[in-house]
Amino acid sequence: MARPHLDGIAVTNTEGRHVVLVVEDEPSYQDALDVGLTIEGFIVVGATTIREARELMARATPSLVLLDVMLPDGSGIDYCREIHETVRTPVIMVSARASEVDVVLGLEIGAADYVTKPYRLRELVARMRAVLRRPQTPARSGDGPITIGDIDVDLVRRSVTKQSRSIELSRKEFDLLALFAEHRGQVVTREQCLDALWWGLDLVDTRTLDTHVKRLRQKIEDDPPRPRHLVTVRGVGFRLDD
Ligand code: CA
Repeated sequence: MARPHLDGIAVTNTEGRHVVLVVEDEPSYQDALDVGLTIEGFIVVGATTIREARELMARATPSLVLLDVMLPDGSGIDYCREIHETVRTPVIMVSARASEVDVVLGLEIGAADYVTKPYRLRELVARMRAVLRRPQTPARSGDGPITIGDIDVDLVRRSVTKQSRSIELSRKEFDLLALFAEHRGQVVTREQCLDALWWGLDLVDTRTLDTHVKRLRQKIEDDPPRPRHLVTVRGVGFRLDD
């Protein structure tokens, strides 16, 4: 796996390419990510153990860490927590089993997102870009939920409450709500929604988006047919208001 000389590489290099640290012990994934992410314009730095990752992190700060849950010398979950409590570089957890995802989500380890093996490179890259687009402020990395009226959206724990009662959302519904919450008070276009949630795949019927918005309204609005928070901006998209 590529090991660029890291001295002097800060968060991004001068060409604005993001450095991503891939902590992964499976050779097939290492190779695929090295090739795939380089083609996508990232500078890929690889570590196969937590110890190696710590050494690299001590020398440079990547933009993002892709972190496997099961590593030869320890748990990616513990290491994610360590990163979150120290340098706060965003981490995408990579799990091999859905049961690991429950652990990742159940603990407050500060992961920005997660993917489950086997994943498609296109999905991973879309999630990476979405994480990198988020402002790297403490407010976004775990210091509290975004409040919209009586709704609280916790992007780190991926939980939503309305009047302090927990709301169950599907993954797509949550991603959609998170997108709106991140742009609260601003119009989010239909194209932005499709791009963020379906990675611009042409095969997605745009009515799918309306179906998700409708379901989301049924869960967060007092009067779903006449939404107060998640309003339609005719011909453009949607806006989330207080
Ligand atoms: Ca592993």
